[in-house]
This record gives sequence, structure tokens and C-alpha cells, in this order.
Amino acid sequence: MAWCPFAKKMELQPESDDQPAIRPTQFIVHSIVAPWTPERTYEYWRTTNLESHFGLGYDGSLGQYIGTQTRADANAAANRRADGTGAVSLESASNLKASDPWTAQQVETLIRLGVWLHQKHDIPLRVCRSPNDPGFGYHRQFAAWNPDAHACPGDARVKQFHDVVFPGIVARATGTAPGKPTTEPYPGAAFFLNGTRPALGKRSPIFTAMGERLVAEGCGRYKVGPGPVLGQADVDSYEAWQRKCGFSGAEAKWPPGRSTWDELRVPNV
Ligand SMILES: [Zn+2]
Repeated sequence: MAWCPFAKKMELQPESDDQPAIRPTQFIVHSIVAPWTPERTYEYWRTTNLESHFGLGYDGSLGQYIGTQTRADANAAANRRADGTGAVSLESASNLKASDPWTAQQVETLIRLGVWLHQKHDIPLRVCRSPNDPGFGYHRQFAAWNPDAHACPGDARVKQFHDVVFPGIVARATGTAPGKPTTEPYPGAAFFLNGTRPALGKRSPIFTAMGERLVAEGCGRYKVGPGPVLGQADVDSYEAWQRKCGFSGAEAKWPPGRSTWDELRVPNV
């Protein structure tokens, strides 16, 4: 039974003694749909048959209720499998719709805990590729973990998981660059416009990164470049990409929209 050294231990009984052992191979994150401290989450678990291993407050404070080598009941089929493997689970404070992003303090603790789990239990540094695949994931990722089809942990946090939390765990565990987002966040429509027209002549390294991705997707309309100065070829290429994404008519026109931008996954520059 393993207890995280930077979590406040609040052992949940009788579950901690009664539930079977697991060999932890996954880490699955949740939003608890309440703005609760780890202490408040502990009080809630005492009233139910459910529980997570960890609770994470908005201020980054971490509580642990069950050892990581004991089954906890937050992820359906992933709690414990017939072969004895199972998932470590964490519930994080959120608003009542689980629509808010994690705070910077929560992101920091998630990264720190992910590194600890990797080092302590050899959870591999990859995003789970299937319900039984060892690695890191989030509740709604697979129906086997989430038979009730909760949105948990919410759209904003799923994006943070991919862009900040998981890359941060990898970076810190391997001693490479600090956890910087791997993709450029959507800069907003105004970034691409001068009034209502394309901001031709505007200079930004984002345009080079964008253009290289458009070429990779088979949408490049460049005779030269792409480069950092926005030109008509960028506009034509991006409009080709928006059509490839299923948009047509006015919806496929410049400026880039958020959904096609996120889909393009422009590298962070
Ligand atoms: Zn959940």
C-alpha cells in the first residue's frame, strides 16, 4: 500500500482494509462537479460506496484516501481487472458543471503526482490507447471506464490534459523541456483580421507554423513559403483546410475558426 509523500493522508475505512489489492497500471483523472477541498471530498466518500484514491483542491492541495495498491471505485471496469491490474483515480475540484479549466495550482499538482506515479509504479509515459492499456487518461476517454457517459472531466480539462498536464508529466519525468503546450492555442478571429479583411502583411511565427501544418495536411497553396508574413496563399490554404474539415460557403472562408484551428494542431512556437 503506497501513500504519496506530498498528499495529506485521510484513510477511508472500512474500504482501505476491505477492498482488494491492485497493481496500478493507469492514472485516470476526474472532476467532482463541486468546488470541494480534499477534506470535503473525504467527508463525501464517507457517505457513499464510491471513492477515488486522491482528491485535489482548487489551491493544489492533495488528499489521499486509499493506498495506490488498493482498489478504489471511481472508474467502473478499470478499478480492478481480473488480472489484478487497476487504475489510480483522482477527483478534482470543479464548478457545478465541470466546465471550468484546472487552476495553475491544480495543473502543477497533477504533474507532480503523475511523475510520482510513474516513478513509484512504473506507469508508462503515454496516453492510454485502449481501456486496458497502461498509461495516463481521463474518465470519459473510454466507455468501459465511464458506462454512464459522464462528460467528466469536462471539455476544458480534456484539452488541458492533452496540451499541458500529460506533456508536463513527460517533460518533468524525463528531464526535458518544461511543460509547455505542444500546440498553439487558438489566437482568436481578430488575430487574423485587419477590420473585416485578412490581415495581409502581418508578421508572426504562428503563420509559419500554421502554413507548415497546412502543407502537411495536403492543403498548401504556396508557391513560396510558408513564412512569417501573412499572404494570400495562407488564406487560400487555410480555406482549403476548412473545406477539408467539412465546412463550405461562408463558413469555409477566412478567418480560421476555433474548431478547425484545434483540429490542425499547430505546433507551439
Ligand atoms: Zn469522473
